[in-house]
Amino acid sequence: MRKLLCLLLALFSLCPLFALAEDEPLPWDYAIDPLTLRNLNGYLTLANRDHLLASAYAPSDLVNVTARHVSGRFQLRQAAHDALLAMFAAADADGCTLYVKSAYRSYQTQNTMYYNRLKANNGKDDGWVSYPGASDHQTGLGLDILNYAWTQKSGMNAEFANTKEAQWMAAHCHEYGFVIRYQQDKQEITGINFEPWHLRYVGPSCAAYMYENNLSLEEFTLEWQAYIANYNARGGNYEEYCKALTTLPDPVVTGSYDGQGDGEMSFFQP
Ligand SMILES: [Zn+2]
Repeated sequence: MRKLLCLLLALFSLCPLFALAEDEPLPWDYAIDPLTLRNLNGYLTLANRDHLLASAYAPSDLVNVTARHVSGRFQLRQAAHDALLAMFAAADADGCTLYVKSAYRSYQTQNTMYYNRLKANNGKDDGWVSYPGASDHQTGLGLDILNYAWTQKSGMNAEFANTKEAQWMAAHCHEYGFVIRYQQDKQEITGINFEPWHLRYVGPSCAAYMYENNLSLEEFTLEWQAYIANYNARGGNYEEYCKALTTLPDPVVTGSYDGQGDGEMSFFQP
């Protein structure tokens, strides 16, 4: 019996898993889980004048918008559209009828819009149309939503915020994974005028966090990137931590070799 235990101890001391168990990772105490912040699905992708998307950047999972919309054909990324359908159903139930006015825009479309706007505005960028590559619409996660009355107007402005539909979205869109991308008090940070109609899908946990802490996507991005940098500076290893969460070690065989239960397990628990 003792011989067997010694043999197992010797084996486990050579095993890299044993070393891993000794090195407890630095605790993760940020509100958003580390894997979400890897942004593998692109839901946190930032597009602005300082973070231009490549002209070839186009999401691979665009679907046609079947939610209520003005005439035309619109596309969004699958997750954003699923969330949109759920949000529209909830808005309907609360007596708010919403319409998609604009959704995914390719780089080329944005390019045309931008230069048309410049031409109409004596060559001056007035902050109403994003620079090509800087548009949230190119991510396939940003969209414009209006009520019926505003779909009949030729332009959009901040007065839309006074409608019950805009107020409903401001209060509830985070429950479906959206945020109001360009807030009134963040114009200096986003570089874009207040757009109470422009929603951006970031996923439910990030949307709730951004809503509760009143963070623009620019501020949130700086915050979580700083957390990761600080985590690594304090001796943590963010990449390894994520890897350990996605590729957990093979389960330990828990055979009872002496009839006393899972003896081997004790070697893994300091
Ligand atoms: Zn928009």
